[in-house]
Amino acid sequence: MATLSPLLKQATPVLAERGEGVYLYDKEGRRYLDFTAGIGVTGTGHCHPRVVEAARKQVGTLIHGQYTTVMHEPLLRLTDALGEVLPDGLDSLFYLNSGSEAVEAAIRLARQATGRQGIVVFHGSFHGRTMGAAALTTAGPKFRAGIGPLMPGAAIAPFPQAYRYGWSEEEATRFALRELDYLLATASPVSDTAAFIVEPVLGEGGYIPAPPAFLEGLRERADRHGILLIMDEVQTGFGRTGRFWGHQHAAVRPDILITAKGLASGFPLSAIAAPTELMEKAWPGSQGGTYGGNAVSCAAALATLEVIRDEDLVGNSARQGARLNDGLRKVAADHPGIGDVRGLGLMQAAEFTGPDGEPDPGTAQRAHKAAADRGLLLLTCGAYGNVVRMIPPLIVTADQLDEALTLWTAAVSDATS
Ligand code: PMP
Repeated sequence: MATLSPLLKQATPVLAERGEGVYLYDKEGRRYLDFTAGIGVTGTGHCHPRVVEAARKQVGTLIHGQYTTVMHEPLLRLTDALGEVLPDGLDSLFYLNSGSEAVEAAIRLARQATGRQGIVVFHGSFHGRTMGAAALTTAGPKFRAGIGPLMPGAAIAPFPQAYRYGWSEEEATRFALRELDYLLATASPVSDTAAFIVEPVLGEGGYIPAPPAFLEGLRERADRHGILLIMDEVQTGFGRTGRFWGHQHAAVRPDILITAKGLASGFPLSAIAAPTELMEKAWPGSQGGTYGGNAVSCAAALATLEVIRDEDLVGNSARQGARLNDGLRKVAADHPGIGDVRGLGLMQAAEFTGPDGEPDPGTAQRAHKAAADRGLLLLTCGAYGNVVRMIPPLIVTADQLDEALTLWTAAVSDATS
């Protein structure tokens, strides 16, 4: 008899049998509002009929077109469709399976293209759990402790965490950019630095949107020093933040864009995009994998893009995100233990802190559990686990949001009484 490894740490006790739209159902037929979306994956909702139909059709046609051996139609069609939504100039795509793999691919590309090794990451970053990506991940102890030595070459600069510093966004941005300049003059010299890698909204690190001036400051330094700007849009892409890409809240264009999660509505698929001239600087055959660009995943991704367009999910994310932020603020106004509410689009969070602004993971965990007990599934994040985040599918309606906010209000009262 085999059992599941105790390595697994499950955020909720739910045994999901079925998913439909924003809801999950267990065997007993209990319904849960899923405001985790499988960690920001099911933007089109669980089992969107058009995604299901596309995948079903592809399963009966060709499941495994191994794309380093034979090419297949779904991958070519997806490449055309992504061309319509990618930032100008990022016209070359390479496919993998997961976010972590795509991060690894971006790093390999950046190193090969520049001939430099250094990668600058920002404090609170999450770029994945494979050994290269783990070296770039600073969002909490569990991602790094006990597994080193990690890939050399990563240097850590501050991310403008205004709330934690007790500063304005402008002050935090000025500080972070000055520290970055200092890092480039000292520990990570320009001549050795291949890339900056940044999330437009710090995800696992606590749902902190990057101030536009910070991303613009990175772009300016990248241009000045011949450093590549890699945007990790694994969690922020495909409308999650109320724009198609998270970095579109600022006036920047990345050199390499990393995408996964929302791309294929739950089928494993990731991709990196960059200008062809940049991709040409790496060696053909230096990247790849058995399953990358799987035909069923590509068909599902194609349907996902159509649903995002036809149902205006980016617009819905912006509209419902504003409503969710508003509702979370109202709850926070009655609970001094919620020190901050923040987010972009349908990527929203509440941070629990004590009287002096110190992290309060205890109350956050209790609120998270009380919400699950009441039928609202959420996730926590942040280095201290004191941030509760809400990432509903992008199809969420105002009524469903209001239902979630009612449950959240009760859960916070449970946790604080
Ligand atoms: N980058 C970011 C910004 C992420 O949020 C995640 C996953 N949470 C990853 C990379 C890693 O993706 P995966 O779990 O698919 O490897």
